[in-house]
Amino acid sequence: MRIAAADVVVTCPGRNFVTLRVTTEDGLVGLGDATLNGRELAVASYLADHVVPLLLGRDARAVEDTWQYLYRGAYWRRGPVTMAAIAAVDTALWDIKAKAAGMPLYQLLGGACRVGALAYGHASGRDLPELFDSIRLHLERGFRAIRVQTGIPGLATVYGVASSAAGGGDRYDYEPARPTALPVEETWDTRAYLRHVPGVFEAVRHEFGPELPLLHDGHHRMTPIEAARLGKSLEPYDLFWLEDATPGEDQAALRLIRQHTTTPLAIGEVFNSVHDYTTLLGERLIDYVRSAVTHTGGVTAMKKLLDFAAVYGIKSGLHGPTDISPVGMAAALHLDLAVHNFGIQEYMPHTAEALEVFRTSFTFADGLLHPSDAAGLGVELDLDAAARFPYRAAYLPVNRLADGTLHDW
Ligand SMILES: [Mg+2]
Repeated sequence: MRIAAADVVVTCPGRNFVTLRVTTEDGLVGLGDATLNGRELAVASYLADHVVPLLLGRDARAVEDTWQYLYRGAYWRRGPVTMAAIAAVDTALWDIKAKAAGMPLYQLLGGACRVGALAYGHASGRDLPELFDSIRLHLERGFRAIRVQTGIPGLATVYGVASSAAGGGDRYDYEPARPTALPVEETWDTRAYLRHVPGVFEAVRHEFGPELPLLHDGHHRMTPIEAARLGKSLEPYDLFWLEDATPGEDQAALRLIRQHTTTPLAIGEVFNSVHDYTTLLGERLIDYVRSAVTHTGGVTAMKKLLDFAAVYGIKSGLHGPTDISPVGMAAALHLDLAVHNFGIQEYMPHTAEALEVFRTSFTFADGLLHPSDAAGLGVELDLDAAARFPYRAAYLPVNRLADGTLHDW
């Protein structure tokens, strides 16, 4: 089962996606997601210029060996570009292996531990009425866990808050990457944020009751002591988690937050290796691992990371915004089903255009996602549809304080 071709497909059905399509001599096709939001072409080049020539003629069955060959063989280790490229190869080879076996991938990973993966959706609003509408809309669509992001008085735009109003039955979404010549600049004020957020959660609990799991994303904007204060002030509202409280590269920051609050903590969407987690897991400083299969070296690396987390009783909460392609999403769902220490899965439905390009088979019903029992990942790439949506440069925003100082976005 030799690799005969490996093609990098860049497409923009509403937003950019980079996909590796690996074909074996006997005609099996495997897909891997290599999308790095806002820096997509760097991974496309890494794959096309430096990885594809190494794949041709290799044994497609040698998944672990190929992972090690690309990781150790590059000499330059880790980093989001390298690890997204390795993830795409790894995921495509798992897709091929599962198709060759005639099984859904989760069966090769040990079989299902549950009937489906509890998903959380993204509700947001500039004010409470808009937020409540958005939460109701998500509940109507079947979500049983909700991330809550709110506008902040005095700030024009805030991460995670859709700029158009909710309601009307239309899809309610937030897409931060915008096709502008330069990144959009937003203004941030942590003190205003810390003053406003606890009252919002109090109002949401009052309106929707004590049972609904609520999540919140701090998006790496606080100092450790600010995050500790927020976690403490949110304790009465029983959050499922507080995510990305502090900048991701500072593992020791979580130690300080942990000393002050019992609000569960989640982090890891910008991580790309198990080595980003050694302090966090070994000292039990977090409760949920937030990495994406796409940015962490693929199915092989994510399975090992989650098994490492399981040793410490820490659960999964895999990254799943719309910049994770349907291929990356499917890979996450197979892991969600197969690992014992599953916690929750982030789920932002893709646009109709994206689903024209990526023909998915995964399902969402009664709050649970299921990857389907199709052989492999269960996603097909329509090359003709992909060609209709050419790449468009888009940037994530940047964030400045009122005095112009650049802050974490
Ligand atoms: Mg986050």
